[in-house]
Amino acid sequence: MNAQLLSIGNELTLGQTVDTNAAWLAQRLAAVGVLCTRHVTVADERAEITREILEAAKTADLLLVTGGLGPTPDDLTRETLADAMGVELVFHPECMTQIEAYFASRKRAMHPQNRQQAMCPRGATPLDNPHGTAPGVRGRLGNCDVYLMPGVPREMKPMFETHVLPNLSHGSGAAIVQRTIKTFGMPEAEVGEKIADLMARGRNPTVGTSAADLIISIRINAHGETVEKAVQLAEADARVVRERLGVAVFGEEGDSVQDAVARLLIEQGKTISTAESCTGGLISKRLTDVSGSSAYLVQAFVTYANSAKERLLEIPPALIAQHGAVSAPVAEAMAANCRRISGTDYALSATGVAGPTGGTREKPVGLVFVGLATAEKSVVKELRFGENLSRDEIRDRTAKAALNLLRLELIGRSS
Ligand code: AMP
Ligand code: MG
Repeated sequence: MNAQLLSIGNELTLGQTVDTNAAWLAQRLAAVGVLCTRHVTVADERAEITREILEAAKTADLLLVTGGLGPTPDDLTRETLADAMGVELVFHPECMTQIEAYFASRKRAMHPQNRQQAMCPRGATPLDNPHGTAPGVRGRLGNCDVYLMPGVPREMKPMFETHVLPNLSHGSGAAIVQRTIKTFGMPEAEVGEKIADLMARGRNPTVGTSAADLIISIRINAHGETVEKAVQLAEADARVVRERLGVAVFGEEGDSVQDAVARLLIEQGKTISTAESCTGGLISKRLTDVSGSSAYLVQAFVTYANSAKERLLEIPPALIAQHGAVSAPVAEAMAANCRRISGTDYALSATGVAGPTGGTREKPVGLVFVGLATAEKSVVKELRFGENLSRDEIRDRTAKAALNLLRLELIGRSS
């Protein structure tokens, strides 16, 4: 199957907005085995857009168009598809009702111009958009399925998932099912080695890995004559991947390390507190990203200055004087004292050099200690992220590593 993308808008051709839609769509298509062969960006010009739609439809099986579905005079995408199909636009009362309901639910008055969004080329089908006013459109030009979607990424993505993805095929009516297994703490090369047989070329499902900020995702794409068969194939591989990668697996698509931690804390009825230095509260922020976090997070200390570590966490000044604030003994004491002071089941701590300044030969940028205290013990993990990562990256990875330490403890596999 050959897919092409058409992005529409002056803000894109002028370089004022980066075309993130095309990147996102191409990746989503690739993830389900659909090859994207051409990306085109055009300004809000009726004749040009029509020409590009017709050009793409000559060779593509699938054309995804984003942008230009709004209510203003420069939003021309519906018109251009009608032009390309050689039909007129017809009014869809059911779309109008949905657009009116969208405004009514937000207690906003609808401008008469929004009526234009209920128009759709004759013979094409409107696609509902629960996240905005602009319905999408599905039409056909020769052998090419054409989808028009809103430019706003927050509206476009759910429309793709709901209305495009389930209709994708490889020309044979086959179904594609995708599963993503997410891991933390195992190097990508080791992941690859453990599932090398699944990653062999020509297999169904296709299995591949991708790494982003210490999280290695294993993507399984299964093709089947029916959805059920594809699900079965994907499920079988997912089981093998989970078995082989063991405790490194923390979740599936959409899961974060804190989601996994939150599930375990809630299941086990345990509480947590945090004592953070270099992360400035990022660990507790992540813990509270999960709805229902009041069930487990009791309190969070951000003790940046040594004086705060001494006053709030009762760290002995002599300990800091002897080892420095960025050290394993201080990370350990921060976690242990935080746990005792907070009266929680667990406590996490982090202290390190987030950079880009402040590194020394002995304690370079990227050196971080994360600590975990439990009723029985306190453990510290030394992390060396290297000096090339940005401050944000070091803090992000530190927070993930600390949360992962707790996750391993909660599943009974601590170091
Ligand atoms: P439109 O659907 O043309 O009214 O676009 C609405 C808004 O969505 C634009 O102002 C941009 O902020 C955003 N947008 C449009 N196209 C893209 C794109 N290809 N990538 C990222 N953002 C986009
Ligand atoms: Mg626009």
